[in-house]
Amino acid sequence: MEEAPYHDRPGQIWYDGKLVPWGDANLHVLSHGLHYASCVFEGERAYNGRIFKLTEHTQRLVDGARTMDFEIPYSVEQIDAACKEVLASQGLSEAYIRPIAWRGSEMMGVSAQDAQIHLAIAAWHWGAYFTPEARMEGIRMMWSKWRRPDPATIPCKTKAAGLYMICTLSKHAAEKDGYNDALMLDYRGYIAEATGANIFLVIDGKIHTPLPDCFLDGITRRTVIQLAKARGIEIVERHVQPDELDKASEVFLCGTAVEVTPVSEIGDRRFTPGDITRNLLQDYDEEVRREVPTTMNAPKANAA
Ligand code: PMP
Repeated sequence: MEEAPYHDRPGQIWYDGKLVPWGDANLHVLSHGLHYASCVFEGERAYNGRIFKLTEHTQRLVDGARTMDFEIPYSVEQIDAACKEVLASQGLSEAYIRPIAWRGSEMMGVSAQDAQIHLAIAAWHWGAYFTPEARMEGIRMMWSKWRRPDPATIPCKTKAAGLYMICTLSKHAAEKDGYNDALMLDYRGYIAEATGANIFLVIDGKIHTPLPDCFLDGITRRTVIQLAKARGIEIVERHVQPDELDKASEVFLCGTAVEVTPVSEIGDRRFTPGDITRNLLQDYDEEVRREVPTTMNAPKANAA
């Protein structure tokens, strides 16, 4: 591992309203968020000093916390400002930003109605999720043995920490077998998503993508759908059967971390990243770096 562990890095983390030294951003071992997963987080990226779709991410964090029955004690505007402050204080322009909110240690047990709600935001330099070679060649995926659960059993529209149990298990299993990632079906057997990204299939020149009715409707997913429509490509959101991969000429993933990533292999099926994937990958790279003509989203002077 070439990088320092995440608990031991230089700089500062925004913690409950102020910047604290990186190594001091700790929580007690009896925190409810750790024991009972009362915790929601976000994953954002900054390009050229500007956090892409910042307010959409912040809104999802706040909404997710409400679904988890807690209220983050900061407004969307305050959280947006805090994200920008962390980015600037770390002197980063190309970065990953991780806001996280959780219930504290005032109460221990399933119920924790009066536990304090904490919010921390960290930012670090992070380039492409997959190596450039792996990205261009397409990544290799295997099937996960885990399925996205019925929405009646989990708060499926949140980025709640507990929902990532099966993602980590799936990705570990894939990595053990030499794959980059795993593809999960949902509880009905339809194609759902990867462990941290949404999936798109190109079939007969149209783009088909699973209906996000039991998993995250990613911010990147919505961006890619807009970009595809702008190119005049038809988008079909529907339930997709695993066998339909046989008809797909191209497959790609998208998410904040993976951006647009071509897929070359899922189980025993092979795909060759083609023009549609390449064009959307390029469109996305341009979109995230496009200057937004409003002072609200302008990077702070010292952010770059
Ligand atoms: N699904 C899962 C499970 C994820 O973790 C992510 C990443 N947040 C996504 C989809 C894609 O979401 P987004 O485009 O908003 O990053």
